[in-house]
Amino acid sequence: MGFLLSISGAQAILSPLAPPPDWSSLDGYQKTITRKEFSRLVNQVYSPDGSFWDYARIDDQKVTIYSDAGKTHPLYTLHFAADDNVCAPRPYSYKTHMVSNDPALPLKGLRIALDPGHIGGDWAQLEARYFKLNDDPPVLEAKLNMITCDLLAERLEADGADVVWAKHGYEPVTSLRPDSLHHEAIAALAQNGKFRSSTLSDSSTTIFGIPVFGGSARHRNGQAAAEARIENEAALLFYRVAEIRARAEVVNKLHPDLTICVHYNADDWGDPNHPTLTGQSRLVIFINGAYEKSELEADDMKFDLLRKLLDRTVVEEERGCALVGQSMLDTLKYPPESYPGGYFAKHVTDVPSVYARNLLANRLYHGPVIYCEGPYMNARDAYYRIIAGDYLGTKLIQGYRYPSIYRQYAAAVEHGVLKYFGVK
Ligand SMILES: [Zn+2]
Repeated sequence: MGFLLSISGAQAILSPLAPPPDWSSLDGYQKTITRKEFSRLVNQVYSPDGSFWDYARIDDQKVTIYSDAGKTHPLYTLHFAADDNVCAPRPYSYKTHMVSNDPALPLKGLRIALDPGHIGGDWAQLEARYFKLNDDPPVLEAKLNMITCDLLAERLEADGADVVWAKHGYEPVTSLRPDSLHHEAIAALAQNGKFRSSTLSDSSTTIFGIPVFGGSARHRNGQAAAEARIENEAALLFYRVAEIRARAEVVNKLHPDLTICVHYNADDWGDPNHPTLTGQSRLVIFINGAYEKSELEADDMKFDLLRKLLDRTVVEEERGCALVGQSMLDTLKYPPESYPGGYFAKHVTDVPSVYARNLLANRLYHGPVIYCEGPYMNARDAYYRIIAGDYLGTKLIQGYRYPSIYRQYAAAVEHGVLKYFGVK
């Protein structure tokens, strides 16, 4: 406790809704890694732009992580193993290879967590995962993810796996709601500099301590704008942060061998009631990595990076994402995503759709995570298949015969997962 108190004196920065990290929980990782491997993982996967080293001092014996870039407030010191032969065993292990002797149930003895992305239901419009084109049925991403995960669960269970859920159905896992997060929303807005002082006029006012644009003549509009920003931020904290944190608590208690996050991607569709359809879907799949410079200012990010790195799940995530990613490319036959410069994601592995990116889910879920982004919901080459719903066999859609896009997605992931565990 004394340790925590002295840290709070240094005014540690935490990302919104993050609890103060329990650094002592890393004690089990002492001497489990060499300096060489630690540095390699930082440089190649977790902090490719080197920002991590702004907060760390390293020598052959140890690395010390600091809260500040001035390196005056140490958070934790990790001691290295002298070489690979004397590494201490890691405190957690995840099964990475089949343990079944029953060829009919090759995944028996393995636990796989499924995380169908987003909440959906009454929350789909709030979380901006909803659009509706003319008289077509509405497209809710959470529903597409849920349908796909149910089909995937059926397949994995038939293979013998113990399937557990981060969330099932269309209710939030978190008990928090946007209305209970106004205080946190104000803190987040004040912290992340969405209203930079350089962009404010001299006549700017503040509402609840948050500067707002516009002079005194537009004060009332300014107040309404600030209140809208707070509402909006509270909603974001609810569905983007609180919900994922609650799911991570569920998943981490279940200790799965592998976690699969299922999403459908999209291009910007504009007005959800008059959405824009775009031309072509692309596929992408994420391992955890590529923490941004601004993210690493937060102590909880440094902690999460370290925990993820020390768990050494990157080897499994790269292997799993490459296998599932290739299977999705082969099965769904959409091209891989290609990110423009400036977008913070780093291409990894030999499979063109696999990227390292720091997402809340692939950061907080313990153990290897395969984070799939499926076809674009609003691309013409996927949209008509998506609104056709799930069905058996094939259907004529826009002049071509297609199987259900949901079944194809689920089959592709299952195929990759079987390979991951060394089946066949
Ligand atoms: Zn999504």
